[in-house]
Amino acid sequence: MIGRKRNPGRGAARKVALKDEHEIARMRRAGQIVALVLERLAGAARPGTTTGELDRLAEGAIRSFGGTPTFRGLYGYPANICASVNDEVVHGIPGERVLREGDVISFDVGATVDGMIADAAATVAVGEVSKDARRLMRVTRESLAQGVEQARPGNRVADISAAIQRHAEAHGYSVVRKLVGHGVGRAMHEAPHVPNFVDGGAKDSPELVAGMTLAIEPMVNQGSWQVVQDDDGWTYRTRDGSLSAHFEHTIAITEDGCEVLTLRAAGRAAGDRPAARAQAGG
Ligand code: MG
Repeated sequence: MIGRKRNPGRGAARKVALKDEHEIARMRRAGQIVALVLERLAGAARPGTTTGELDRLAEGAIRSFGGTPTFRGLYGYPANICASVNDEVVHGIPGERVLREGDVISFDVGATVDGMIADAAATVAVGEVSKDARRLMRVTRESLAQGVEQARPGNRVADISAAIQRHAEAHGYSVVRKLVGHGVGRAMHEAPHVPNFVDGGAKDSPELVAGMTLAIEPMVNQGSWQVVQDDDGWTYRTRDGSLSAHFEHTIAITEDGCEVLTLRAAGRAAGDRPAARAQAGG
């Protein structure tokens, strides 16, 4: 789930909550649940399925793995996951909508384990989708990977932001500006903001240090970066009606780089289907 960008800057940097190894271990468990649920959602997103059915599938899976769905009730949110179809950018509320061949759907999932939270998202195809849609999903996933690549001590949040923006814009797309990534862990939205674009001086951007835990989440539009919010008070969609894609990982800054807590660890659940469609960002 997304943070709204307000009052970014120096103040936020001072309030960053660093996590100890025990907290990160709980976030890792939450992250593995989120990764597994995203995988299952990708497999279940077929023509004829409703987004409400997928929400119930996700809730059952999160609870069966020992987590609780973080989003339900957060700021009054009425579902377990976000399911945003086609021009919907984020915060689509699951319900009666029936998925159709050619749709793209972004799933955003949060799980809490022993009070610690992990948050991730992936956009997947419903049946066969257009070449343009596949390209948008690929470039957005790559943008996330480029951002994660910059997540290491000594760099700043702006290095992550710039890498994401550069990759998306190099392919003719735009990054959403109204909504940004965020610190995550003890709460769903913590400092600092993690924008997907650079504005102002990068020298004011928070420095990355070991123990920081961040949700990095490019939202990339085929058309302009502008978004509008529906009357439901949640759903954001592209103003121009173009397609949008969203990939997100929760990461922990380590002494020499970062650990992607929501990347499915190989072999951790033997017998499960490979995650090819759900793996976000690599
Ligand atoms: Mg998020």
